[in-house]
Amino acid sequence: MRKPRLFTPGPTPIPEHVMLRMAEPIIHHRHAEFVALMGRINANLQTLFCTKQPVLSLTASGTGAAEAAISTLFQAGEKGININNGKFAERWGKMMKVYSMNVVDVSVEWGSAINEEQLVAVLKEHPDAACVWLVHSETSTGTYTDIRTMARLIRDNSNALVCIDGITSIGAHECRMDEWGLDVVITGSQKGLMIPPGLAFVALSERAWERADAHKPRNFYFDLRKAREAWQENSTPWTPAVTLFIGLEPALEMMMQEGVENVWKRHALLSRGLRAGLQAVNLPLFGSSPSHAVTVAYLPEKGRKDFIKLLKNDFGVTVIGGQDALKDVVFRTSHLGYYDEADMLAVLGSIEYALQKVGHEFEAGRSVYAAQRVFMGVE
Ligand SMILES: *Cc1c(COP(=O)(O)O)cnc(C)c1O
Repeated sequence: MRKPRLFTPGPTPIPEHVMLRMAEPIIHHRHAEFVALMGRINANLQTLFCTKQPVLSLTASGTGAAEAAISTLFQAGEKGININNGKFAERWGKMMKVYSMNVVDVSVEWGSAINEEQLVAVLKEHPDAACVWLVHSETSTGTYTDIRTMARLIRDNSNALVCIDGITSIGAHECRMDEWGLDVVITGSQKGLMIPPGLAFVALSERAWERADAHKPRNFYFDLRKAREAWQENSTPWTPAVTLFIGLEPALEMMMQEGVENVWKRHALLSRGLRAGLQAVNLPLFGSSPSHAVTVAYLPEKGRKDFIKLLKNDFGVTVIGGQDALKDVVFRTSHLGYYDEADMLAVLGSIEYALQKVGHEFEAGRSVYAAQRVFMGVE
């Protein structure tokens, strides 16, 4: 027997009681029971996003939330700045092009976050920009961008809306939508929210809503004004993925019980432990600004092709490889969502085992010990 252990940044593992809840008989989405459920979910989503604005739930994967925001807020020919430092960041530039926006794609080296001078220079060069898209935690490279600082710079230097892909940062990194002046924040269900894929979430600031109200919709299903109207009645404009909402309630409840700030702290601790562990067995980390959601390290020289398969086949541990230029170069281990210290020790122990099998040079036991010291608070 092998117990399957998922260490991927979406889908992420689902707590057992959440799975059981979703196995219960379905309810009708226009029934009072569902309206009450949505009321509880909506309030908890606002706490999670640190906002007083509606957090709208869409039946789509995370990408749908970006599409809804772009098609609700921007017109053809408007300028959109896209800070492109990875595979997901790249997507928002492509999407704005499909909506006939004039896209300024600012390419930042993979593994790095844009710095303040670079951003200010772009803002000065494009004073007419309608928005700036930034990825808070770029999952393809495990890179964190300091959104709080960047949002302040955007607000100080331009009228552009601050649009944040928080798909792997919501529930992992501190993200205070209202306090930090973020205009669009999106996430997806299969990441920090610990339920299966199929729901997307988006919140707009007051000034973003003013923009939405002044525009004609460019998309019917994803018109956020319709979603906001339904939200006021604790409802959705179309048939929602009812089962996923049934799972979302206990998952959010878990986060509320832990406390959102403690959820952020747990992710910081687990990522620090995992990074220490990997470095202790001679697996250098990729990038200069590590995310708390996913850790990216170079594959062992010996076993570049086999290491990930070996982990899966021999230990039931699923990590994921790199994309594009990082394919067969790095592997990504997630600690986003339903994870604790013991999970990190298990994945590190399995990684050591696989390293021995491929003949990597390291001192056995080092990774687990290094992580333990971080978790004990002595490192
Ligand atoms: C997963 C992910 C996405 C895409 O979300 P889908 O749910 O696959 O549509 C976008 N951005 C980031 C940072 C992600 O991790």
